[in-house]
Amino acid sequence: MSESKPSNSLTPGQHALLESALLQRQQSLEHELQTQLGAQGRVEHAREQLLQDADGEHAHATDREVDLARSDQTLEALRQVNEALQRLRQPDYGLCIACGDTIAFDRLRHSPEVLRCISCQEQLEKSQHSGASAHSL
Ligand SMILES: [Zn+2]
Repeated sequence: MSESKPSNSLTPGQHALLESALLQRQQSLEHELQTQLGAQGRVEHAREQLLQDADGEHAHATDREVDLARSDQTLEALRQVNEALQRLRQPDYGLCIACGDTIAFDRLRHSPEVLRCISCQEQLEKSQHSGASAHSL
């Protein structure tokens, strides 16, 4: 009866809940990305036409750059969600990559793509924000 449990303590129900949350997120991000890329495509097309028609006047690049930056962010978020979906199938999903501790399910449910437990995440953010200088210990 005692087949090998995953080393994190997620129940099958919790696992399924996280998976469906991730899949939903993946879908909405892909939709967002398609919208953004679609808009870019139109901008590109419009720009080509402009370049063909205009005598020497440059099309505005700024809108396109904003779109690109936005879709970069979406792409990055989508990449994280995809990675989380892959990790979800591994036995060590839900374990902190820094200290190996179990990440609280509440935290996973809120953001299934997290890699670290709360205390390791806080430490990381502290060191990123303060450049490890201002506060004396
Ligand atoms: Zn940790």
